[in-house]
Parts: sequence; structure tokens; C-alpha cells
Amino acid sequence: MQLDKMDENDWVYHGEGNKNLVVAHLSRVLRLLKYPAEDSENPPQSAEQAFRQIQNIVDFSSNVMSILLGEKFVHSGEVVKLPLEFVRQLSIKVQHERPGWRCDKVIDIYSGCALSLPNLTYPVLHLSTHTPPLCVEIKPKWGFLPSSKHVSKDIKSKVCRFCMYQLYKVATGKWKKRSLYCPLDLFSGNKQRMHFAIRQLIEEPQNNLKIFKGGQCIYSRKDSDDSLDLNSLLHHLRPYFLQGNNRFNCHMTNKAVLNDFIQVLMNALLSSEGREGGPVNDRHAERQSYCDASLFNKERSRQGSQGLPGDSVLSRILQTQMLDMRDIEELYPLYHRVEQHLQDFPKQRARLHIEGPYNKEFLEMLQKCPAEDDGSVEYAATKVGIHQYLITKTAKDCSIMVALVPSSDKEEEDEGPPPFTSLVSILDLDPKPFDSILYQLRLDQTIVSFYLQTRSALP
Ligand code: ATP
Ligand code: MG
Ligand code: ZN
Ligand code: MG
Repeated sequence: MQLDKMDENDWVYHGEGNKNLVVAHLSRVLRLLKYPAEDSENPPQSAEQAFRQIQNIVDFSSNVMSILLGEKFVHSGEVVKLPLEFVRQLSIKVQHERPGWRCDKVIDIYSGCALSLPNLTYPVLHLSTHTPPLCVEIKPKWGFLPSSKHVSKDIKSKVCRFCMYQLYKVATGKWKKRSLYCPLDLFSGNKQRMHFAIRQLIEEPQNNLKIFKGGQCIYSRKDSDDSLDLNSLLHHLRPYFLQGNNRFNCHMTNKAVLNDFIQVLMNALLSSEGREGGPVNDRHAERQSYCDASLFNKERSRQGSQGLPGDSVLSRILQTQMLDMRDIEELYPLYHRVEQHLQDFPKQRARLHIEGPYNKEFLEMLQKCPAEDDGSVEYAATKVGIHQYLITKTAKDCSIMVALVPSSDKEEEDEGPPPFTSLVSILDLDPKPFDSILYQLRLDQTIVSFYLQTRSALP
């Protein structure tokens, strides 16, 4: 990529989240910051601050998250300075492709800074075959229930956050239809429960599932009430599965195509590249790992709960989410301690690494944190700001990208789907802003009380 010869015509709109918009060109993507539309005339930060913010993301991803999640899954990328004219033209070019409900934010066209990353939907491994890679992006969300001794409302240790939040999101119009996906099913390691969870993601993807082919998104929910075309998805998928023992059987049913696809995806999510691992960890085994709101029939899976292979992507994410299992209600007083301290000594924000930098001193602070609360601000800052906020919340919001290409492996088995080579990555590993914890506490209270009021009306 020659930064002085950037041409907006080379780049296409690729996708966006709440904070960033992504454009792609072959095997690279550029991830640009977004601002609330009200600030479009006046950028909320200077170009230097934007550069610092993106550098922080890179440092946090490479120095912290990649160690916890596994280097093989994490691509941290690099900050680039783009010509302003290129960014302006790009922003005009992609505008009409953006989903309406994301347009409350605009692209940062003032700083010229962006994060350059490998295009994980178009990995280099596809070059070995002529078939375009399939790629599935899953935003799995929280895979465990907080332990009951920490929560004020009993329901929080029975029904997971995702399932509770669904009722609120549908009632407030964010989504038209409720998703029956439950993260605890996906993270269970039990193949039937995982199959059920992935099936639900396909039925109602919301912003938790996207499917790409050859680097282009072919299945996602763009607006809360657009129509989803499952038939068109199946049409795309079918040729990939008419192989092996099905090669001569073009009458493979849609159900069989979908089952094979889910099976291949599940294998990639559970793969640990030869390394054997037991169930994810003991803490997980002791706790309730069923969510009472999941519609998966519990009796069906009782006979075999395999647990996650220790080195699989799901296991690494779940372990990172569970680094700090305290509930937000228990954390709030610790946050308050830090906030009071910072009011009195604002300059200590840097020493306590509230907003980074995520360097060697930061890692030392992590290591030095006492195990028990000694009443210090250092303890509170490390527990709240770092463990809970930057690390566990980031792991609750990240996405998994699974790229799949039919494998040229000649050894075909008679049973099951044809062989695929998979490349699994984790993306969206930004540190979360420390100051949003009060908002998070209020949101948590809203979601829980709304759930308690309305669940009696559930099917
Ligand atoms: P969120 O609201 O989930 O926090 P975000 O604003 O932080 O999202 P990302 O999730 O990083 O933004 O990126 C938005 C979308 O762009 C992703 O969902 C994914 O589809 C796509 N994307 C991001 N990074 C890459 C990459 N390296 N390769 C391919 N696609 C990517
Ligand atoms: Mg995202
Ligand atoms: Zn649930
Ligand atoms: Mg994000």
C-alpha cells in the first residue's frame, strides 16, 4: 500500500460497527474512526489525539489481548496516515452503502489516521485454490453467568445477559425480531447445543453474524426489518458441499447443506490444532452453565457435555471473559474510589494507565496488583479499569472470524461434510473507555428490571 498514491476507487465499503467503519482492497482493510454526526463539523479530538487513540488500540491488542487470547488468533495491524483528500472522497463514496441505522455517526475525515489490517475475510490462504473463501463472523457476547454471591438480583445468575437484553432491544425497536441465540449454548462445547446456537444465529443474525464469500458480505442483517434471504445463502453455500460423497448427488436437501455448513463451522470453532485440552476450566465446570432462557431442550444434551478444547478460540475467549467474574454492581464502588481519587489528583490518570499507554509499565502494574483489596487506589484501578473494563469487557464484545476454503486433501471420508481448511481470528479488540462504567451500571439495571417485568409474557 503506497500511502501517497491512494485512490478511493480501489477501496470498497466493507462493514462497520458502532465505533469504526471498514473499507477493503483485496487482502487489506482500513478501519476508520467514527464520530457522532453532531460533531461532524467539529471533530471531538485533534489529529494527534486520533493517532494516539489508534496507536493505543494497536498496543492494547498486541501487548495485552494477544497474550491472553493467543497470538495465532490476533492481528493487531498498524496506524497509517492517509491523505485527507483520499479520506474525504472515500467518505462520500461509501455513504450510500451504509446501513441507515448506523448513520447517526460519520467517518472521521479530519485526522487522516486509520488502522491498517489484513483483510480477514479474504485471507491469503485462498490463493492455493480457485474457490472463493467462505468466511463467517460471529460476535458471541458473554458466555457465562456471574456467580450468584455477587449479584443483587437472583435472575442474573440464571438468565444470561444476552437473553435478557434481547427483550429490551425488541421492545425499544432496536430489532424487530428476538434472537433465540444464547451465548451459553455456543460456549458449551456440546455439539448439539452449539449446533442449535449457530442455527439461531442464522435464523436471526442481528449484529452477531455475518457471512462473506470471496471477501464480500452475502448474508447479514442490514436494517432491523429488512428481509433476510436464507435461500440465496443456501444457493451460495451449496457448491461448497456438493463434494465428497455428495459430488454426484445434486439433490442434497437445503437442510443437509445447512447442517454440513454448521458442522464445518463448529469444527473450526472447536479446533485446537492437535493440542489436547480438557474442559475449559474448573471454575466453569462448577457454575451453572445453562441459561434458563435458552430454548435448547436441556434433556437432550445431558448425556454428553464435552466442554471446550483448551486451546480452541472459544475457550480462549471464555477464559479471558472470566478473568474477572465480578458483576458490575460489585465493581461500581471500586470505580468510585478511582474516580474520587482522580478528581483530587487528575494528573494521576497517566500513572494509573487509565487511558493507556499499554506498554511495559502497564503490564508491570497488572502483575503487581495485590490479590486482595488493600483499600488502595492502585488495586481499584487495576481491578476495575484493567481487568474488568479493558480486558473482560473487550473479550465480551470481540468478534470471531472463521475463514474456510475447501481443502485439497485427497483423503476424503465417506461420512460427514467435505474437508475444509480454516483460519480463525479474533477482531475488534479495542480497550473500552473507563468512564463509561456508570452508563454500564445504569444499563444493567434497566435490562434486568425490564426483563423481570416482561418475562411472564414470553412463550
Ligand atoms: P463494534 O460496534 O462491534 O465495537 P467496531 O465499530 O469496533 O464494532 P469492528 O467490529 O472492528 O468495528 O469492524 C466493523 C466490521 O468490519 C466488522 O464487524 C467486520 O465485519 C469488518 N472488519 C473489521 N476488521 C476486519 C478485518 N481485519 N478484516 C475483515 N473485516 C473486518
Ligand atoms: Mg465489532
Ligand atoms: Zn442465554
Ligand atoms: Mg469495537
